Amino acid sequence: MRVCVLGGGVIGVSTAYALARDGHEVTLVERHADVARETSHANGGQLSYSYVAPLADPSVLPKLPQWLFSRDAALRFVPRLDPHQWRWCAAFLRACTRARSRATTAELLGLGFLSQRLMHEVVEREALSFDWVRNGKLVVYRDEQGFALARRQAQYQSTLGCVQHALDGAACVALEPALAHIGAEIVGGIQTPGEEAADCDQFTRGLARAAQRDGVNLQLATEFSGLRTKGLRVVAAQTSQGDIEADAFVVCLGFQSQPMLASLGVHVPVYPLKGYSLTLPNANAQGAPRVSVTDAHHKVVYAPLGERLRIAGMVDLTGMNPHADDARIALLTRQARETFPDAGDYDAMQTWTGMRPATPDSKPVIGATHFRNLWLNTGHGALGFTLALGSAQLLADLLAERELPIDGDAFAPGR
Ligand SMILES: Cc1cc2nc3c(=O)[nH]c(=O)nc-3n(C[C@H](O)[C@H](O)[C@H](O)COP(=O)(O)OP(=O)(O)OC[C@H]3O[C@@H](n4cnc5c(N)ncnc54)[C@H](O)[C@@H]3O)c2cc1C
Repeated sequence: MRVCVLGGGVIGVSTAYALARDGHEVTLVERHADVARETSHANGGQLSYSYVAPLADPSVLPKLPQWLFSRDAALRFVPRLDPHQWRWCAAFLRACTRARSRATTAELLGLGFLSQRLMHEVVEREALSFDWVRNGKLVVYRDEQGFALARRQAQYQSTLGCVQHALDGAACVALEPALAHIGAEIVGGIQTPGEEAADCDQFTRGLARAAQRDGVNLQLATEFSGLRTKGLRVVAAQTSQGDIEADAFVVCLGFQSQPMLASLGVHVPVYPLKGYSLTLPNANAQGAPRVSVTDAHHKVVYAPLGERLRIAGMVDLTGMNPHADDARIALLTRQARETFPDAGDYDAMQTWTGMRPATPDSKPVIGATHFRNLWLNTGHGALGFTLALGSAQLLADLLAERELPIDGDAFAPGR
């Protein structure tokens, strides 16, 4: 089958790779001169297969006023005159029930475990160079209530196959000595030994080369502008390099999926959650963490990527504008300096901003639309790197009408 994949982030490239391995003739369309130039470029680098619990949870409800009124909150909401933003927020609030949060956790863990297995296969098969480490993850808490909720979540996840340990503050610092500076504040942490970290940009570029070797036609520097349809079939993708005809089309346009599809009457509840990252070159071996650390208090993640330290955080629900807010970068930098003051040369750091393509229930949208040959693989929010390979496999299995390794209905558009 001829398949046209739209979007060259980690999701589009993983999809193209999986489809080419299935024997399809694949063209990938990307507007930049290389893949992974947007949200997949400098994200948090966490392959956190066991940290997939959705943002929509009853525990966030008391925090809503803080999100609205504090500029220093980890999550910031600026209301817009935008019906899409309000619909997204209403759906998010509807998803904030314990039952839905638990069901979503179970579904995302299934997709996470599938993705981890596939990642190990890719690592074996492709010999990619992307600073991949299996260094485990430690989430530290500075308040008893947050730690108690985390222990309850870990207990629930243990019934679903997750291996996680609750540690007291001293054990957290013993596991990651670079935490010593805030050791007195840490009340405890959840350690997951099997978690991984890696550079998403290097991974995506390496996988794109592997996909090209498998026959994928990478059409870079090509702007996609719309789809030509005939009845309930898509005939061609319209691009700056001309029309591309294919038997099937897969939309992997990240946060731009929603406006692109809206013109066709296809509704995907994807809204951008802006975030930021800092990258310290030549991270200090003593002062920078070697395990992946999440500081739950500030909602900031730290991942060692070779010689570098990647620091990421902030969730801004502030509209479609992808530009950086200097105040948010300054806040993230201050929090990182306070937590790991000796991590490296903060004056030499690189800053970055990206738009997480988020759905209200934190689950990606994977499957067919009412156009018979138009497929979606988008809406991965804060977990696109983690879930990329499993999502691509699920899409390829759906397209091939094969038996699915996990419950596909959980991720179906219009669920
Ligand atoms: C601060 C931050 C930290 C994060 N940390 C993590 C983490 O630690 N672990 C994790 O798993 N995930 C993390 N994520 C989430 C992850 O980065 C995303 O889920 C993932 O990158 C989404 O990939 P994508 O391919 O859907 O989107 P993108 O990477 O945005 O790809 C979409 C592509 O479509 C292209 N495109 C769009 N419109 C057009 C058009 N008209 N024509 C042609 N091409 C077009 C874009 O150029 C882009 O390359 C983080 C995100 C942020 C912002």
